[in-house]
Amino acid sequence: MNDFILAVHGGAGALRPDLLASDEETVARSALTECLAAGRDLLARGGSALDAVESCVVWLEASEPFNAGRGSVLTSSGRVEMDAAIMDGATRSAGSVACVSRLAHPISAARLVMERSPHALLVGEPAERFALEQGVALVDPRSLVTRARREQLERARARPRVSLDHDELGGGTVGAVARDASGHLAAASSTGGMTNQLPGRVGDSGLIGAGTWADDESCAVSGTGHGELYMRCAFAHEVDALQRHAGLELAAACERALARVLALGGRGGCVAVDRGGKLALPFTTPGMYRGWIGPTGEPRVAVFADDESC
Ligand code: ASP
Repeated sequence: MNDFILAVHGGAGALRPDLLASDEETVARSALTECLAAGRDLLARGGSALDAVESCVVWLEASEPFNAGRGSVLTSSGRVEMDAAIMDGATRSAGSVACVSRLAHPISAARLVMERSPHALLVGEPAERFALEQGVALVDPRSLVTRARREQLERARARPRVSLDHDELGGGTVGAVARDASGHLAAASSTGGMTNQLPGRVGDSGLIGAGTWADDESCAVSGTGHGELYMRCAFAHEVDALQRHAGLELAAACERALARVLALGGRGGCVAVDRGGKLALPFTTPGMYRGWIGPTGEPRVAVFADDESC
């Protein structure tokens, strides 16, 4: 039995099995498995929940099928604009970046904002400059663009519509939650946003309380879905508030918060862990890439609703 908990997601969306290219699903599943195995080893060595969630998200940002880092979706002007946030449940310190284009790993820049600035959120070019000053190498934004995402943008433009990252295509927004052996919680999320979104649009993933939250007193949450609706429900904080103020169990709190998003017309899911070590991975879309560490330490990965659950 582990004395830590770790779960990740790779986005919720339509994910119709007939539309998924099978090699894409295979790559996505192995990236989830590999990041979980690395995160598990880190936590088993006594590493912190914060380091574990950052390392999982860094791994998934580097994995092309996911909508974060390389492989991010494109805005209506064909650019990559990414958001990321990280939160430490032990201190409720938080850091985020939004609307960044020249960072291969926005989640690590978010952590730098948390640890090396007096702020909680930096945006755009000044956020990139801050990361550069902290020793992060900037990348050419074109190096983050993939052909699959260019084609996805063309399809979205033709409709025209703004779509969830993997309504039609493989992996989506990524996130992780963990509880370490000392009982500390942490959450991290990273995304390129929604396909064909207006330039300058910021979603929930990079906003503390909307897509990302962690507090040792209650729970750690990383959401994925229609960002505007998650923001309008203060989704991740809603899960926390339902636990603290209404005494709901984690699974019930997540269901209730997702129902509020659904009532506004939004779909999605989340991964969440509470202070007692309970795990919840619910979603209201047909599928959500998700994974967790099983009781004997093995990474488990699931996509559709009738796949195995934790
Ligand atoms: N929540 C993300 C956003 O709105 C998108 C997603 O999770 O797929 O930016």
